[in-house]
Amino acid sequence: MSKKPPHKFICAEDVFKSNVKLENDVLIIDPSVSPSFIRELEKIVNKSIMIIYSEGENLKCPLCGEKLSKNGFHNRLLNKSDLIHLQKYKCSKKDCEFEKRTNIDNIVPKGCNYEIDVRHEPIKQNEISYMSLEKISENIDLKYQSKPSRQSILNFLDNEGEKYLDDECNDLFEYDNNELSGVFAIDEQFPSVNGEYRARPVIMDVHTNIILNDTILPIEELDVDFKENFLKTTLNGKTIKGIVSDGDKSYATIIDKIKVPHQLCNFHLMQNLMNELIKPINKLNRKIKSNTKKINDIKEKLPSFRSKKVQKKNEKKIKKLKSEIRKYKAELKELENYKERISNIFKQKNVKKAKRRFKTLYNNLKNLPPVVATFIQRLNKTFDKAVNHMVYEYLPSTNNQLECYNGVSLPDNQKKTYRTDRGLERAIKLGKKRWMERNRKPN
Ligand SMILES: [Zn+2]
Repeated sequence: MSKKPPHKFICAEDVFKSNVKLENDVLIIDPSVSPSFIRELEKIVNKSIMIIYSEGENLKCPLCGEKLSKNGFHNRLLNKSDLIHLQKYKCSKKDCEFEKRTNIDNIVPKGCNYEIDVRHEPIKQNEISYMSLEKISENIDLKYQSKPSRQSILNFLDNEGEKYLDDECNDLFEYDNNELSGVFAIDEQFPSVNGEYRARPVIMDVHTNIILNDTILPIEELDVDFKENFLKTTLNGKTIKGIVSDGDKSYATIIDKIKVPHQLCNFHLMQNLMNELIKPINKLNRKIKSNTKKINDIKEKLPSFRSKKVQKKNEKKIKKLKSEIRKYKAELKELENYKERISNIFKQKNVKKAKRRFKTLYNNLKNLPPVVATFIQRLNKTFDKAVNHMVYEYLPSTNNQLECYNGVSLPDNQKKTYRTDRGLERAIKLGKKRWMERNRKPN
């Protein structure tokens, strides 16, 4: 690029609707022009430019009405790296002592080092995906050639970040009761703050994806009374056609009191079954593995046995071990088979068919493997709630949609621990914003 400035003089009022003058590497601009513009301009002309923020030429003194004259510059270091000059003025009348400097509060708040665009960066970066304070700082450095400290970034998040979120979310989170489908899901998540768990109960409209309530509280406060109050106040005044939840017994009691159809999440039911089945399955697999090892050990030694009698005895041992393996495999298959049969109950088209399949198992309780029998006995008590989705076709069979929201709005909650409750609340709000923007549907 040429070393001489390509533009001797730029007058871009028409473009920027403000005064922008570049003369001999000195740029005189109006405080309405963002410093980002200057950074771009420096790239274009390939040299650094002296920046003067000025309020113009013909200013009048607010005290006496006389002309204000220019009176040197006030220097400021923007983002701790860019030197800018603010035009100072003083009144030209002799006795008037009025003085002022160009006001750039809209670019950088009073007493702050970083410009507003930089202060908005952390929340906007977190909006795309969770980013560590260090990463945010590096990204800001790439764009602004300035690396704010972790503390500064936390500060930006607490101030401009939360204000930005509030402004963006107020309308987005609003809804009218008549926009709701009346089918709600309730679920909880347990994120951690500094290693201490919090409860995060959420209520969502499963057809419109509207989040009605999403809050955090210390985990010990999430008792039956809280749950009842949470559900009742959130759904107060709304038409309720049904509620989906996981197997939490307190919700069953509360929802029965409200007298609306209650759907138990079938996915959770199957998950409970799997959690029970995994113990006998692992035990059988261990036995199969151990027998296989024993067989291999014997087989290895077999040629070394001189006596036919010892050989015969060991071959018999192998036979016995093999037959045991067959028995264990049959038991595994049987468990798998029961799992399929139970899963099929939930996939039936109507309650009558589901009930018939259930009764076949229930009437045969004493012949079932113990874990399966226990599950069936338990399911007997809540069977109607497990198949309500066959009665009311608007009820989903699982809580998956809400789990999806929880996962999207607060990912990796098992691994991640937030530094502060404020940070957690902000992460939830960001997630809710993303969810409502992308998934909210009309009823
Ligand atoms: Zn004056």
